[in-house]
Amino acid sequence: MLTLIKDARVLTLDEADGEYSRADILIRGDTIEAIAPDLAVEVTTSGVRVIEAAGKLAMPGLVNGHFHSPANFMKGALDNWPLELFMLYEVPPLMREVVSARFAYVRTMLGAMEMLRQGVTSVHDDCFFVPVVTQTEVDNVMQAYEDAGIRATVTLDQPNVVEHAKYPFLKDLLPPHLRERMEAVPLMSDGELLAHYEGFLERWHGRARGRLRCAVSCSAPQRVTPSYFTALGALARERDLPYNMHILETRLQRVLGAVNYGKSLIRHAHESGVLNEQAMVIHAIWIDEDDLALLADSGCSIAHNPVSNLKIGSGIMPFRRLRQRGINVCLGNDEAATDDGINLWTVGKVAGLVHNVADPDFDRWPLPLEILTALTSAGARAMRLPRPTGRLAPGWQADIILLDLDSFAFTPLNDLKRQLVYCENGSSVTTVMVGGRIVVENRRLVTVDEDALKQEARLLAGEFAGYMARCKSAADELEPHYRRMYRQALATPIGLNRWAGPMTP
Ligand SMILES: [Zn+2]
Repeated sequence: MLTLIKDARVLTLDEADGEYSRADILIRGDTIEAIAPDLAVEVTTSGVRVIEAAGKLAMPGLVNGHFHSPANFMKGALDNWPLELFMLYEVPPLMREVVSARFAYVRTMLGAMEMLRQGVTSVHDDCFFVPVVTQTEVDNVMQAYEDAGIRATVTLDQPNVVEHAKYPFLKDLLPPHLRERMEAVPLMSDGELLAHYEGFLERWHGRARGRLRCAVSCSAPQRVTPSYFTALGALARERDLPYNMHILETRLQRVLGAVNYGKSLIRHAHESGVLNEQAMVIHAIWIDEDDLALLADSGCSIAHNPVSNLKIGSGIMPFRRLRQRGINVCLGNDEAATDDGINLWTVGKVAGLVHNVADPDFDRWPLPLEILTALTSAGARAMRLPRPTGRLAPGWQADIILLDLDSFAFTPLNDLKRQLVYCENGSSVTTVMVGGRIVVENRRLVTVDEDALKQEARLLAGEFAGYMARCKSAADELEPHYRRMYRQALATPIGLNRWAGPMTP
């Protein structure tokens, strides 16, 4: 099957940063075959689908480099609190309710639909399971991605240590009855989790003509047993899968490294043998010089989630320092709860702005091309896709979006890249192609019934509100103790500051 996109303005985001004021793109099957003005293609034969794209911009689809779909129903659900208190309410450690299979499907679909409509063609979903991983929930998540038509790489993000071991000081701060209840919560064993991975890989890895893939996740080094932490590393290396790990997202986690491990959590990952090119390090905000050198030497990728980092006050990632060391940095929403939306264009805009207040030397501020690359090929690279994805170039996967240049974001058109980063919000996207297949046409999803699924999501929202209310009461009794832990960590010096203002206790 041949597809011809005709007369588009084209931004390739390829190595040479190629642009065409008007060109055609020829796609054979799932692959871009040629890009040039006035391609000589015999369109009278019935095997060629022609997309008239005059007045439109063609560019690579966006890649959501870090995401947690289980929070898709949680837009605006939680206050601006630091991660440790925020997570207490998002995934309360004493809560034992399992969501229904249909809820998992609709929840995943809701995010997939929103991303596709904005031109996000790939997502790297660090999918967590509360309270335990079940095959039914995993299969419903994957089925939603298969049906929606988005490219998705998904993990089974499941901690398996007692809650208080994930934090500094908490064990001693908890009253005995709460500590005992926490310690009585059943945990999944390394063996159970690895068996889930085996089944997951067998059922879903490479499905939908390679569009769906599996990755691994420990959530964070301190949230799993040391043996599971290294076993996942071995699995990632053996199958060449991304290994998702949240590291040094918050200042408290730097204190945790010092108190519980006697070293930085980056050094801990390095010494555990899991910091390598498969590693997908998420956040990396509170890193020091030693961490920076280890990250650079490892060949890992880093997911930067600036909107999430602002919402929960995590701090500002040293973007330029990481880029100067040649580290692959991609961009992500993190999740609907910490982003209060699933808009990757907003993430690009904030990434393009927030670092300007972290460094007075304006020569080191992010450039529009850097942001656009972080939004496309950098995320695809971190997903370790077997075929080149994230640029418009012959031989690359046909993940292509068309934007209407008649929209307000581009009227008048002064500078295309700057306006993509700072003006566009996803509403100009009219057509979305994933692996050569059209999934959005005239701003409508053609793969699924968007209206019916949104209606079903609204119905399920009532059920979810009840679940959130029970989460709140499960978290409330722990909250004063987490608050004290946070304060104690804040009073512990670390010799580093990643907040915009000075440290004031
Ligand atoms: Zn995350």
